[in-house]
Amino acid sequence: MFDFTTRDIKYLSGVGPQRAAILNKELDIYSLSDLLNYFPYKYVDRSRVYNINEIDGNMPYIQLRGHILSIDTVGEGRKRRMVAHFTDGTGVIDLVWFQGIKYVLKKYKLNEEYIVFGKPTVFNGRINISHPDIDSPKELNLSTLGLRPYYNTTEKMKRSFLNSQLLEKMMAAVVQQIQEPLPETLSPGVLAAHHLMSRTDAIRNIHFPQNPEMLRKAQYRLKFEELFYVQLNILRYTKDRQQKYRGYVFRTVGEVFNEFYAKNLPFELTGAQKRVLKEIRKDLGSGRQMNRLLQGDVGSGKTLVALMSMLIAIDNGFQACMMAPTEILANQHLETIRELLFGMNVRVELLTGSVKGKQREKIHTGLLTGDIQILIGTHAVIEDTVNFSSLGLVIIDEQHRFGVAQRARLWSKNSQPPHVLVMTATPIPRTLAMTLYGDLDVSVIDELPPGRKPIKTIHQFDNRRDSLYRFMREQIEAGRQIYIVYPLIKESEKIDLKNLEDGYLSIRQEFPECNVVKVHGKMKAAEKDAQMQLFASGEAQIMVATTVIEVGVNVPNASVMIIENAERFGLSQLHQLRGRVGRGAEQSYCIFVTSYKLSDETRKRLEIMVNSNDGFEIAEADLKLRGPGDLEGTQQSGIAFDLKIANLARDGQLLQYVRDIAQEIVDRDPTSELAENEILWKTLKALRKTHVSWAAIS
Ligand code: ADP
Ligand code: MG
Repeated sequence: MFDFTTRDIKYLSGVGPQRAAILNKELDIYSLSDLLNYFPYKYVDRSRVYNINEIDGNMPYIQLRGHILSIDTVGEGRKRRMVAHFTDGTGVIDLVWFQGIKYVLKKYKLNEEYIVFGKPTVFNGRINISHPDIDSPKELNLSTLGLRPYYNTTEKMKRSFLNSQLLEKMMAAVVQQIQEPLPETLSPGVLAAHHLMSRTDAIRNIHFPQNPEMLRKAQYRLKFEELFYVQLNILRYTKDRQQKYRGYVFRTVGEVFNEFYAKNLPFELTGAQKRVLKEIRKDLGSGRQMNRLLQGDVGSGKTLVALMSMLIAIDNGFQACMMAPTEILANQHLETIRELLFGMNVRVELLTGSVKGKQREKIHTGLLTGDIQILIGTHAVIEDTVNFSSLGLVIIDEQHRFGVAQRARLWSKNSQPPHVLVMTATPIPRTLAMTLYGDLDVSVIDELPPGRKPIKTIHQFDNRRDSLYRFMREQIEAGRQIYIVYPLIKESEKIDLKNLEDGYLSIRQEFPECNVVKVHGKMKAAEKDAQMQLFASGEAQIMVATTVIEVGVNVPNASVMIIENAERFGLSQLHQLRGRVGRGAEQSYCIFVTSYKLSDETRKRLEIMVNSNDGFEIAEADLKLRGPGDLEGTQQSGIAFDLKIANLARDGQLLQYVRDIAQEIVDRDPTSELAENEILWKTLKALRKTHVSWAAIS
């Protein structure tokens, strides 16, 4: 037997160079083994034959056995079609063709027995099947036909007649050539312990299931394998990191922390904040490098937790650094933190792209001498020119803009990697967090500070501007401030900016008595800051902006968030935006403005938002509705390996199960040496090789 992994697909009969090229390009299929790893997306049971009097228009694909009574062509021109009246003795049904009429007329004969296969629909009160598959019963052995696979194909493939049926034929030819077992990708121990089918049987049955039970087993084995390697990869990586590096030990909670706690802390910590701080303190003292993800809904008080963690670093003679994704945010953190530390002897500085010349040099020096204890900044802080005397803790705010690779760059900032705390307000469902950030421990702030009024969320159609403007006017007269946000999608930045400009002009016209500011990503930082400042100080009542205000901006007096074209935002993003209001004592409102024409899915998504204020609930719903691929913020960090058959939204339980198994293996075999795991490490290595971003880190 030849090697399936190297045997080129073009040598398979019926394929040839042209179709091979299409398969290469459209599905990334080059070898026979690639083909075998292209799984069906559904199966249709072809062992059962229905009676015509049993069927209705709502059934999936069905099969009938009978003969054609008569054939008519009806309609003219583009509506011309051919109708065959087909009976099995229990009733009559219409078989319809819109194309290939000549071919059909030549091929099928009256009063001959046929097996007809297709999807029944109702048209003009009659049940019909259009473009059915028709075979002679002599050529079909129904009892062995059983579950037939259906494969996804692209438009390009269809044009070259590379349809599901042809793929099925190719697959059958390859499966028949499997004479000895395919190389196994799980170890005998794992296979036995978890009652998994061999890889060979799984591949056979995923394409041509012997029966539903075998199909289920094949699916389970392949999903297991996929998720297992996602987890083994990330846990192996974590173990290697732990073995290579030790963590700085922060032994004491000392003077600085205690002074802050006693004198400066402006309010009682929430229970959740206390719990999370304890978790962090434990990590920092453990001798292991901390890598912790702190999830907390918008407004849950993450900044305070970050600050108090940094104070522990300072108490132990280390510096701390906090990174934010935008200059606006970095600035805001600087202000907040300086205010919180007022009167204390802690030096806090800012480093962003717009800090230049002398000021920048001063900061570089201050970091090297250790005079600067807390550095706050943007990506600028990970540049190679920025060096610390003893960086001990890094906080990354709003992590979804930082990939795994960027985190890794931070580690070189000291002789051992500093502790890392990643904070996010984009709640990631647990299953996904485990997969994407499996190397991180997770803490959750699941409690908001007391006294917050839930935000009222309203969905309004854009033909009701009048009432919207009336409402805005009331709020402004009551002394409130208003955000109006327009979507910004990269591909059509020009159109988006125009929408924003138009919106800005009509608001200025409508509210001549108000100060209206405008903020978008294309503005110079200084100009943007000036506009923000006008709004933050209360001089401007309305801010028209793109999503640059999505993260972190804090203006407690702003109590109304209006989101234009809300249908163009993802749920998590809408939740983030909504989190900009509801920060003060007043009742806050979030209004989604959309056109009347919306898809069912969009309506459903907005409904979720209107009914829930809970970020985790929303993220779960988002994951279920859209699938994990679309979830915001996941693209950068990426799941290590493509999932072909497992689904994070549905297979969460299995994901947890295989994680425990992978963890046990890594713990028992910390240096990847045990013979029993040889296959596992070999397979993992091969997988990593084909996924460049991972190869670079590990
Ligand atoms: P986020 O988690 O979104 O970063 P922030 O840290 O910006 O939230 O906190 C939101 C607001 O809540 C801030 O104004 C902060 O001062 C306030 N806050 C934080 N913790 C508490 C607390 N324990 N009690 C009352 N207010 C708090
Ligand atoms: Mg924040």
